[in-house]
Amino acid sequence: MNIKKDVIELVNKSEKEVKAEFEKINEICEYNTLKVLQAFQNNNISEVHFNETTGYGYNDLGREAIENIYSEIFNVEDSLVRGQFISASHALNVTLFGLLRPGDTLLSISGKPYDTLDEVIGIRENPSSLKSFGVKYEQIDLINDDFDYAGIEEKLSSKKIKVVEIQRSRGYALRKSITLDKIEKAISLIKKVNKDVIIMIDNCYGEFTNKIEPSNIGADILVGSLIKNLGGGIAPNGAYVVGRKDLINLVAERLTLPGEGKEVGPTLGMNKKILQGLFFAPSVVASSLKTAVLTSKVMENLGYKVQPKWDEPRTDIVQTIEFGDREKLIKYCQGIQMGSPIDSGSLPIPGDMPGYDDQVIMAAGAFTQGSSIEFSCDGPLREPYVAFQQGGLTYEYGKLGLMRAVDNIID
Ligand SMILES: *Cc1c(COP(=O)(O)O)cnc(C)c1O
Repeated sequence: MNIKKDVIELVNKSEKEVKAEFEKINEICEYNTLKVLQAFQNNNISEVHFNETTGYGYNDLGREAIENIYSEIFNVEDSLVRGQFISASHALNVTLFGLLRPGDTLLSISGKPYDTLDEVIGIRENPSSLKSFGVKYEQIDLINDDFDYAGIEEKLSSKKIKVVEIQRSRGYALRKSITLDKIEKAISLIKKVNKDVIIMIDNCYGEFTNKIEPSNIGADILVGSLIKNLGGGIAPNGAYVVGRKDLINLVAERLTLPGEGKEVGPTLGMNKKILQGLFFAPSVVASSLKTAVLTSKVMENLGYKVQPKWDEPRTDIVQTIEFGDREKLIKYCQGIQMGSPIDSGSLPIPGDMPGYDDQVIMAAGAFTQGSSIEFSCDGPLREPYVAFQQGGLTYEYGKLGLMRAVDNIID
């Protein structure tokens, strides 16, 4: 790949420095692999579950087994794991419309939610938004990357809130991702003030980065993507919603139709891919975490500001690098693309994106379109020129891709 010798040496040296962190990731991976394996065995998964249904999709044994496995892994009453969800953005949309009614209020306590929800909620006007149906929205911003606990208590005591949304991962915001101990503290506070509030977690990028999930610490309903962590790079699309049985029923009847709910939904040959992806997921997430940790160390050694730092606890697979320089950000992303297995010959350039004020550069050489469990990197072209990097189906490829990108910014 024509990578400069000093770049290879730097990455190899940095790798030695982060070995202790890799040991922790290995342990989490082993634990989550055990969780997955046990759920497969408890549900007696066999070849029959790989079969597909078509049409209405009644009596799909594989689909039912997959949803039982998800329920076991998340320790919840019920699950909806479907290819009829395009991805997590769609599942978040269906979940919010399933839970909220005209006059209800949705409260986000982790600042502005992920960009694709702007028009769903009505933060940006859209005639199909929740707002257009009379659902109200309020937001409490984070303070120093932690919840505004006093603000949350005040709001919940003074106003009737139906759903609280917490976004675990930073998404494309400059804030830190929220660790599970903070989420647990917020959940107990909310339940103390009003036990009837529905707590919904946008769990994207978080699955299997820890030994537990937000559903283990009191969250009522979780939403995530199958083209991220739990799809393991194998699921071709889809999303999951897991949680309380009554809530999953509301979401299922919004995805399909009232009266049929979870009973319909043809799987069209996806069952094996969803199962196989879930089987690989703990290992793929571990590879992504190792790629992120190594990137953090290498870029810190080169003098860049990184978040999280290599030895900080992680709650998702996202790594940011602050370049402070337009050209460096572009060159780094182009290097990630050059190192990809797919489309390595394409050169990403900054372009306009719907929903963004600034131009954005996006590098992704992925088997599945938009799949960011695969090694990918992007950033808005504005101060302080931050790259958001995530994924890595295998650690070895993540390491090589990183070398390629670093080589591209060093002249
Ligand atoms: C990626 C992401 C989404 C959207 O997921 P898709 O599967 O890409 O639609 C929502 N929320 C967060 C925090 C994300 O990172």
